[in-house]
Amino acid sequence: MDPLYVKVHPRDNVAIIVNPGGLAAGVCFSDGLALREDTPQAHKVTLKDLAEGEAILRYGQVIGHARRALAAGSWVREDLVAMPSAPNLDELPLATEVPASLPPLEGYRFDGFLNPDGSAGTKNILGITTTVQCVAPTVDYAVRRIKAELLPRYSNVDDAVAITHTYGCGVAIDAPGAAVPIATLGHISRHANIANSPLVVSLGCEKMQPGRLLPIDPAFPVFDYTPDLIRLQDELGFAETIAAIMRAAERRLEVLNRRQRQSLPASQLIVGLQCGGSDAFSGVTCNPAVGYAADLLVRAGATVMFSEVTEVRDAIHLLTPRCATPEVARDLIREMRWYDEYLARGYADRSANTTPGNKRGGLVNIVEKSLGSIAKSGTSAIHSVAAQGQKVTAKGLVFAATPASDFICGTQQLASMNLHIFTTGEGTPYGLALAPVIKVSSRTTLAERWPDLIDLDAGRIATGEATIESVGWDLFHLILEIASGRKKTWADHWGLHNALVPFNPGPVT
Ligand code: CA
Repeated sequence: MDPLYVKVHPRDNVAIIVNPGGLAAGVCFSDGLALREDTPQAHKVTLKDLAEGEAILRYGQVIGHARRALAAGSWVREDLVAMPSAPNLDELPLATEVPASLPPLEGYRFDGFLNPDGSAGTKNILGITTTVQCVAPTVDYAVRRIKAELLPRYSNVDDAVAITHTYGCGVAIDAPGAAVPIATLGHISRHANIANSPLVVSLGCEKMQPGRLLPIDPAFPVFDYTPDLIRLQDELGFAETIAAIMRAAERRLEVLNRRQRQSLPASQLIVGLQCGGSDAFSGVTCNPAVGYAADLLVRAGATVMFSEVTEVRDAIHLLTPRCATPEVARDLIREMRWYDEYLARGYADRSANTTPGNKRGGLVNIVEKSLGSIAKSGTSAIHSVAAQGQKVTAKGLVFAATPASDFICGTQQLASMNLHIFTTGEGTPYGLALAPVIKVSSRTTLAERWPDLIDLDAGRIATGEATIESVGWDLFHLILEIASGRKKTWADHWGLHNALVPFNPGPVT
């Protein structure tokens, strides 16, 4: 392969190295630029001489300032880049460049399970939810037996899943922050893929009583919502507790097994977007391809959520103009401010986000990471903002506020989504039991190293073997196949399902 770099925006004065294994000092590119030192793949090289203090531009934006003069062809290492401060939340443009509506995309459908509340399931799962961590091993034990002894007799049911977590007691349950994990777990317990209706296992003495996890809410019109409730402290010993859960599970399996997939419009999809283990390719390969697919989904009338507050914070000046109304823009700013204050209470800021893997992958700071991260959101207007723990109900592109932590963001998005898209540069085997997780790689080297974990390779975009459009369409078609149950993600193939980790910003007692 000839020496190759990728420059994202015409204004950029740095570009990233494409060649696997990086390039050696002295190598010349086709435009005559010569590398001054050995530079790893995905890391940046200066395209012109930069003076000390000069702005370093990538994505057409300032990602930092040069700590010393850098001649053309220099490796832009992390320690040579001074990080700019985050955009001031009081000086942002509100809904000033609202994108025009994209042309509708009609005729795309998938085979899903229609629920009593009108939502669509992409899987048909027996869900057993829990009010507190104390009961988790008991429910895990029961689920092992349900899978071995009952599930084989109900061929229309895909799985039995214990909805377990670390929340439920030993917490300040009335503190404002407690609303976030309680709402998240409540929405997951009525997930579209468990037909909105869980079995519930409670201990008895815990703070998060079943009525607090699953309040009867007139705004939530579930017609047949009558959860079976098993309270461990009311049962006679372990064996009888398991028998009671098994009996309730069997009743529920009879109902679930009668459900059939039916053709539903793509507008019934609620797709959560996330990245994890990002690298400098993420913003030019997988994230723009996901952004293209996000636009296709929005055009088809679906809901697309992007999240991860600390990974949009430094690009917020590019998002508030895209909000459909000034009110939506103010909602977005409200979520940024909430998180700034949350981090400040822990004596941290958004720069705490970047990982050693991000840096090994060529990302010098959170500013560069954010500019690549927001490419997932595509080009459409931002129609709505959901606060931490709030269920997304709007159609179109929505910002759902969550932490960036993969398993916490995934848990929080799971409250709303029936399908998950996860982009990665460094690689992670991440998956969720309740919704399919499609993993898209930023580099072909990762897809080749992990052919049985990565579902789609976007790395071919960097070498010119594929385009953002072609990978975007591939992903859109893959979404419809997986939502229909005609194809399985690698995470589901191997049963790689991460624990649910609700975000608890409230105090622990
Ligand atoms: Ca993440």
